[in-house]
Amino acid sequence: MAVATPGPDERWRCRQCGNLTRFDVTRTTRATEFVHVDLAGDAVVESRDVLADSVEHVTCRWCGTVDAVEVVPRPAGSQAARRTSSGAAPGAASGVAE
Ligand SMILES: [Zn+2]
Repeated sequence: MAVATPGPDERWRCRQCGNLTRFDVTRTTRATEFVHVDLAGDAVVESRDVLADSVEHVTCRWCGTVDAVEVVPRPAGSQAARRTSSGAAPGAASGVAE
């Protein structure tokens, strides 16, 4: 059973404990990658084009409940209120780390 993934204005919330920020996500992804191999043989993925992505299970890191997440709207204005005024570090506004 696939789990619904949040859209740009949404996020997951654990129905059991209310966790909004920590999840273990098991997903199946089909992607095409541009792999750049240097002369020593070390490979680096420089770009990744996701062709299909399906979230199979989401486990709450707080209470351990599996697939008890619901998609809820993000709080209004959270993008603007996010620590952007104090010169946030690169990547801090990506919404991944909270
Ligand atoms: Zn939970």
